[in-house]
Amino acid sequence: MQLYNSATHKKEEFTTHTPGRVEMYTCGPTVYHFAHIGNLRSYIMEDALEKYLRYEGYDVNRVMNITDVGHLSSDADTGEDKMLKGARREHKTVMEIARFYTDAFFDDCRKLNIKTPEVVQPATGLIDEFIKVVQGLMDKGYAYFAGGNVYFDTSKLDRYYVFNDHDEEDLAVGVREGVEEDLNKRNKNDFVLWFTKSKFEDQALKWDSPWGVGYPGWHIECSCISMKYNGEYLDLHCGGVDNAFPHHTNEIAQSEAYLGHPWCRQWFHVHHLNSDNGKMSKSKGEFLTVSLLEEKGYDPLAYRFFCLQSHYRKALVFSWENLDNAAKAYQKLVKRIAALKPADGPVDQAVLAEYKATFIERVGNDLNTALGVTCLYDALKADTNDATRLAILDSFDRVLSLSLLDKAAELRAKEAAQARASSASGGFTVTGEGDPEIDALVLRRAEAKKAKNFAEADRIRDELRTRGVEITDVPGGAVWKKI
Ligand SMILES: [Zn+2]
Repeated sequence: MQLYNSATHKKEEFTTHTPGRVEMYTCGPTVYHFAHIGNLRSYIMEDALEKYLRYEGYDVNRVMNITDVGHLSSDADTGEDKMLKGARREHKTVMEIARFYTDAFFDDCRKLNIKTPEVVQPATGLIDEFIKVVQGLMDKGYAYFAGGNVYFDTSKLDRYYVFNDHDEEDLAVGVREGVEEDLNKRNKNDFVLWFTKSKFEDQALKWDSPWGVGYPGWHIECSCISMKYNGEYLDLHCGGVDNAFPHHTNEIAQSEAYLGHPWCRQWFHVHHLNSDNGKMSKSKGEFLTVSLLEEKGYDPLAYRFFCLQSHYRKALVFSWENLDNAAKAYQKLVKRIAALKPADGPVDQAVLAEYKATFIERVGNDLNTALGVTCLYDALKADTNDATRLAILDSFDRVLSLSLLDKAAELRAKEAAQARASSASGGFTVTGEGDPEIDALVLRRAEAKKAKNFAEADRIRDELRTRGVEITDVPGGAVWKKI
């Protein structure tokens, strides 16, 4: 496939160190709070990328960390420890917070059809490995001990900025973060590999190390976890675009210094989800979660559909109106698929192969999932039988993961159940918007009227009205709609 590589700033032919196998790494969540849907956009697009690579026939080994220690609120070496902040907020221990939000993250992933990576490694489970790599960097002269912490010395590198040409002045600590400069650092971009001089009196998680009792910096986690499970040559590293600097920049610095050779070939960065007034973040108070979408009546997969409709390298603007449009389009798509007849003949393999080739050509061009979605509509219009159309849709959904055939089967079953319900009621037909509970109420109202129990009939009508449902009596039945 052709994939944009943030490290070379261009679209390139995707390659791997070992033919046919992709070593893939994803920066996982810092588990101090729920993931907001902006974070989850990255995981959705990375999931689509992994599934696309599998679709092309690659074997993928995907590794992800869970950050449960060491991530400070600035993403650099300043601010509060995010995990401690979460623990204090909820009056729990750091490990309780970590367990709770790790589970919550994977619940969200399940609802969004995001596959769990082959390896998921909490940072606190690999401390010995971090110490080994930090010691290695000390031995090679890339790290130094100052003021109680171990720092990476960025002046030892030929090239530090990989993803962009930062104006160094803009990055001056104190200007950018509004915090005091760390005077232990020899160069302002040096970063902490191991903290022993804890800034926090109540730092709960500490381990012995050659430099004293302490804990790892955030950046070293990802390098070590990847080197352990992906090996020395990483093919593809993923993350949100805000991780490019300093996190990924520091990962490259320490990994290549430690290994003594180039480390990761391709860097995949997903851009922000913005709200009307800028980037969505937890600190801004606009905290949209998957649970909130569900509370408002959205299928989480409608959000996945919404994300797939736009390119990962463009900022995506979230609004309820935009999500509504995506949800309606998704429902309509499922309805059209439900109308296909699953067993109307054999699958035409030649047509299926032809459509698959087009899908690969389109989606394989820098993960163009929006065109992948268009391919679904093309499949519905394909000049072939329904069985072949369904086989094409099923094939594309291995990458898009919208549960299209399952949802269509559910809808078909629901419609069949409704048809049964109406025939069982003496030919009284309820036509509505596909909610069996409301259909049942409408039927009960009809039965009450038939039995001349008008008080009960009126009561049901009122109940339906409070639920926002309007009924119109028609010959031989009733029609209801949500108002
Ligand atoms: Zn990372």
